[in-house]
Amino acid sequence: MNIRNIIQSIRNRLHPPEHLSDETVLGFLRVLEKAEKEEISCNELYDKLDEYVEREVNQKDAAQLMPLVRDHLDLCAECCEEYEALLDVLEKTSGH
Ligand SMILES: [Zn+2]
Repeated sequence: MNIRNIIQSIRNRLHPPEHLSDETVLGFLRVLEKAEKEEISCNELYDKLDEYVEREVNQKDAAQLMPLVRDHLDLCAECCEEYEALLDVLEKTSGH
């Protein structure tokens, strides 16, 4: 994941789209840097995504239980898309 992707995904998360100053983005990045040690990679996320989405649908405690996955989804647009697609499928097949 490169810096450009991070900035883009932060921008994507702000609704409605607002102008974001570089300073604000840098502030986010400083927070990210601190969390860097605990960051997981896309591959690691992929391994956990099934479990995460299943918990999200059933117990609704996925974010508390697997905060690193939650963090990664917040930061990584690609994995977030994957997550939303999976969530959509599970929700449709879980009957509620
Ligand atoms: Zn990712």
